[in-house]
Amino acid sequence: MNNVYTVQCIECNYIFGDFEDEFGKCPECGVQQPASGSWASKELEQIEILTASGKVSEAVDLAMELLYKSVDVEYGDWPFAHNLTNMIRELCEKENLTSQISQLDALWKLIEANQMGGDRERTVAYEKWRNSQ
Ligand SMILES: [Zn+2]
Repeated sequence: MNNVYTVQCIECNYIFGDFEDEFGKCPECGVQQPASGSWASKELEQIEILTASGKVSEAVDLAMELLYKSVDVEYGDWPFAHNLTNMIRELCEKENLTSQISQLDALWKLIEANQMGGDRERTVAYEKWRNSQ
């Protein structure tokens, strides 16, 4: 068992298993867990504002920051990470932001290479790489 990416219940600290829905109800205390991405609603609003005012590159930078967070040990919010990735790709393609798209590709290559959720050594290596970015 590799439980590097654990998600805990906000109420009773129950640790969700690998195949349990950490965005549903806690099997222990029944409390509804926050929806995927709900921890970043303020930033998402900011991204929308930036995009609407034509500051797409800044919007993408902010979305990338969220993406780094969403795949880290603390959050591990994978559905949100995939949504963000789609959003970033769309914005980059629309605005032809090639350097940011390669940043995105590099991150996913690393995630796949590390098989995130794998052993601790790889996770530590990933965190080190992320902090150096
Ligand atoms: Zn609970």
